Order: sequence, then C-alpha cells, then structure tokens
Amino acid sequence: MKFRMLTPGPTPVPEETLLELAQPLFYHRSGQFRALLREVTSDLQYLFCTRHPVLTLTASGTGAMEAALASALPSGSKVICLISGRWGERWRNLARALKLEVVSVTVPYGQAVDPLLLQAALREHRDAQAVCATLSETATGVKNDIAAFGRLVAATPALFIVDSISGLCCVECRTDDWQIDLNVSSSQKGLMLPPGLSFVSVSDKAWQAIDRNRDSRAFYFDLRKYREALATGDSPFTPALSLVRALKVSLARLRAEGIEQLWAKYARLAAMARAGLQAMNLELFAAVPAEGLTVARVPEGIDGIELLNRLEKQYGIKLAGGQDTLKGKILRLAHMGHLDAFDVLAALSALELVLLELGHDLEPGAAVAAAQRVLADSLFVPRVV
Ligand SMILES: *Cc1c(COP(=O)(O)O)cnc(C)c1O
Repeated sequence: MKFRMLTPGPTPVPEETLLELAQPLFYHRSGQFRALLREVTSDLQYLFCTRHPVLTLTASGTGAMEAALASALPSGSKVICLISGRWGERWRNLARALKLEVVSVTVPYGQAVDPLLLQAALREHRDAQAVCATLSETATGVKNDIAAFGRLVAATPALFIVDSISGLCCVECRTDDWQIDLNVSSSQKGLMLPPGLSFVSVSDKAWQAIDRNRDSRAFYFDLRKYREALATGDSPFTPALSLVRALKVSLARLRAEGIEQLWAKYARLAAMARAGLQAMNLELFAAVPAEGLTVARVPEGIDGIELLNRLEKQYGIKLAGGQDTLKGKILRLAHMGHLDAFDVLAALSALELVLLELGHDLEPGAAVAAAQRVLADSLFVPRVV
C-alpha cells in the first residue's frame, strides 16, 4: 500500500528536498551561509510578492506570529483580531499572553469575516494599533478577503498583520499590493518543507512601529536583531542550517513553477476536490473556500473519526478531521505542498469506498468522474463544433 498524506501541515516534501537534509553540516558564520541566506531571502520575497525583507526564524509558525506582535506592539496596545476559527483564536490568545488589549471580531465557524465588520470595528476603535487576520483559516477551510482588509487598515495608523501560514503558495497573497505590514508564514505547508522554520515580511510602516516600541517583550524573537544580522547576510542565532539548505531546494522548485501558476494549480486541485466531495453527496463547510484545503461535513449517522481511521488503515490515505468542537463532524482534505491532481483523485476514490462501506448513499465513481471532468476542462480548451 502506498501512503498518501493530504493534511494541512505537515505536507508531503519532494524527494530532492529530503535528500538535501542529509547533507553534511558546515559552519554557519561563513560566506557559504551568507550566500545561502541571500538566495532563500530573495526567493521568499518573490513568493510573498514583496520587496521588503523576509526574515527567517527557527521556530514553527506560531513563533513568527509571536515575534510580530512582541516586536511591534507595546503592552496595553489595542489590537483587533478577526476570528473565523482556531487560527484566528491563536492571534487572540497570543495577544492576551503579551498583555495586549484584544477586540475580537468573531464569525461562526465556516464563515469568512465580512470586511464591513472590520470597517465598523476600526470606526469604533480609532486607537487600535494593529489588526490581525488569517488568510486561509485551516480549521474550517475558509479564505478571508485580505485585500479588502488591507485597504481598510492602510487608511488608519494601525498595522495589518496576517497569518498566511497555510495560504502561502496556494492562495493568492500579494503582500505589498495588499498593504500587509507583517506577513507570517512557515515551512511545513505550501513551502514543501518539514516543520521548523517560520518567516515574516516587514513593511516600512511596521519597521517604524518596531523602532518606536520601547517595550519589546522579545529577545530571541526581537525582529530588530534579524534585521541587523540580515544587513550583513547573517542570522542572529544559530540557524537551522539543514532546513535552510533544504528550503533553498524547495524554493527553487516553487520559483521555477511561478507564483501565479502555483495559485492556478492549487485552484484547480480545490475545484476538483469540491466537485468530487459534492458528487458523493457531501456538504461543503466553508462559505468562501481557500485553495489549499477543502472541508466537508461528515454526513449524519457516520462517525467521522472511524471514517478517517479506515481511510488511513485500509487505503493509506491520511486526511485531517475537525478540531475542538468540530471533532468528528468535518473532514479536511488538504491539497497543499508536494502533491498533484492524481493524489486528489486517489483520495476521492478511497473516500468513496469507505463511505460506501459505512452505508452512505453514493454512486461509486461519481466523485472521481466529477473531479476528472474539472481536470479535463482545465487542461483542454473546449472544441468548437
Ligand atoms: C498550521 C498553521 C499554523 C501553525 O502554527 P505552528 O506553530 O507551525 O504549529 C498557524 N496558522 C495557520 C493558519 C496554520 O494553518
């Protein structure tokens, strides 16, 4: 049996990247490392669509989220957190831990945050110093309208801080054009790497806030240290050398594909997954779906945990379930990282088999046919008769 992982982080990693992890170590205070860091930073700027620096931290994604807040905002600052799921809640919980004053703008799971809600919150809280948002809410599969949020926040003194961790490379995200001041991502999702690195891009407006902040609550995560080190091509602390080497390999592959081509590819996989799940009579969960994963409700009467267990045990297909209050109620089929249309077809095929076995009403092959039609339509221009 072949194991296939369609989970929203970690994601499958290309073989050439895995092999790079086995390379011998070298000394990091060296021209060799400075050249490596320069190269990955330039590739990251390309993928983030920014001309500003992208800093590389040794930490999972939450580390860079914490670095952004702790470096830019003195304690007591008011932040508006846009919450459409567990990852929006992470912004709120982090902000509270850093003694920031949180204004929560929360929508029910499965919904995106309406930009009008942000507009109202900004009017009511003119003293807000930051707005925190999530591009792709991995807990529910929802995509938020970062471009619209960015326009609203840019008209105020507040910083616009975005978690694009599960969105980067899969969901359109234009850091500079959309006026994102601090854009946070990490290695284990669209960037096709193991967990362990995180990244943050920093706008001029954000640097001004960081330089003004006399109350940085960070040492390891003080972004000023990363800026200073990067000026000479260095990292302030011992970098996760092997991961940075491997990053270079994955980034080269992504850059060769092209960022707009990547967005189009994942949009195609998402369209296949949505068509397939609906063709097996499943209800999609996200009102506005992100392109990196597709979330469906587990049908009434079927045990969602049993369903995912059987998929993995019997067919080697690993999907993710729901978390917290959504446990057992949804399934999350991720199509981010190193996978393609045939992995999505395989997952849909196996899901049909398990659902049939569990007594769900569906026509075997219907999901695969629906997804295959989407794929065919995207590849061939229809012939005019
Ligand atoms: C995966 C993910 C994170 C991850 O945080 P880690 O610290 O890397 O576990 C944060 N935000 C979103 C939206 C994610 O999908």
